[in-house]
Amino acid sequence: EATTASQLLSPQNVRDLFDSVDAFLFDCDGVIWKGDKLIDGVPQTLEMLRSKGKKLMFVTNNSTKSRRQYAKKFHSLGIAVSEDEIFSSSFAAAMFLKVNDFPREKKVYVIGEDGILEELELAGFTGLGGTEDGKKTAQLKPDTLFEHDKSVGAVVVGLDQYINYYKLQYGTLCIRENPGCLFIATNRDAVGHMTELQEWPGAGCMVAAIRGSTQKEPIVVGKPSTFLMDFLLQKFHITTSKMCMVGDRLDTDILFGQSAGCRTLLVLSGVTTQSTLQDPSNHVCPEYYTSKVSDILEFLGP
Ligand code: PLP
Ligand code: CA
Repeated sequence: EATTASQLLSPQNVRDLFDSVDAFLFDCDGVIWKGDKLIDGVPQTLEMLRSKGKKLMFVTNNSTKSRRQYAKKFHSLGIAVSEDEIFSSSFAAAMFLKVNDFPREKKVYVIGEDGILEELELAGFTGLGGTEDGKKTAQLKPDTLFEHDKSVGAVVVGLDQYINYYKLQYGTLCIRENPGCLFIATNRDAVGHMTELQEWPGAGCMVAAIRGSTQKEPIVVGKPSTFLMDFLLQKFHITTSKMCMVGDRLDTDILFGQSAGCRTLLVLSGVTTQSTLQDPSNHVCPEYYTSKVSDILEFLGP
């Protein structure tokens, strides 16, 4: 099977890409920031793109924050972004329930952090669990029956720094015993950054725990699933061929963009190295690649 090789972005070919797209969809970690640290030149590049009339959107698989919390993070890093330009996997989980008419009287058990609970509440759903259940393992009494809420109709699993045996039992019982209970994963990333220093286990780890105990497969709402893409396309009425997905991960971001028919740009400021991209075992080829987002500004000029 012939795969077209990715082109290194250059002052010569950047113009073609720039002129033919109306919107840029940016992944966040590894592209805009690394953990809590801004990547050099990003605010200036985004400002230039906006000043040329390009629509900007941001999509992140990290479910720990809500869109409101992400907007705050962007602002603290000197980037002006509005909440409705942000598509986080926490928001995706809430929107999945909404578009599928999840009954308001049912509850949602969360193995995850505050971002998911906040998005559920904003969408009008009742969330349980989250960080509140983070200390309850000490209360477990294996000689008494573990009670769970029979009105839980969905379990949402995302990155959870406070995951424990109590939450695993709670989520497992809901999925196994409540008829029709959904198992939703915000994302399945193997690892992620808390800071620039090193990688830590990602939501894929928590999702695998619940897969293990329930023997069920989750509905994934984050990248590379098409749910968020379909959602934002409906919201903004953009043609995917006029959109460029910019990301640092081949198996989430680039795949997410390509399967929707977007133009794609891989940046090497995150988890992917040039040798991974060019390794014969890699079959995901972005249209372009470059070292970092600010190369767009450098190559095009202000
Ligand atoms: N999930 C977690 C827990 C993370 O820490 C990260 C990156 O830091 C991600 C997912 C991936 O985020 P993004 O989609 O913005 O690259
Ligand atoms: Ca990323």
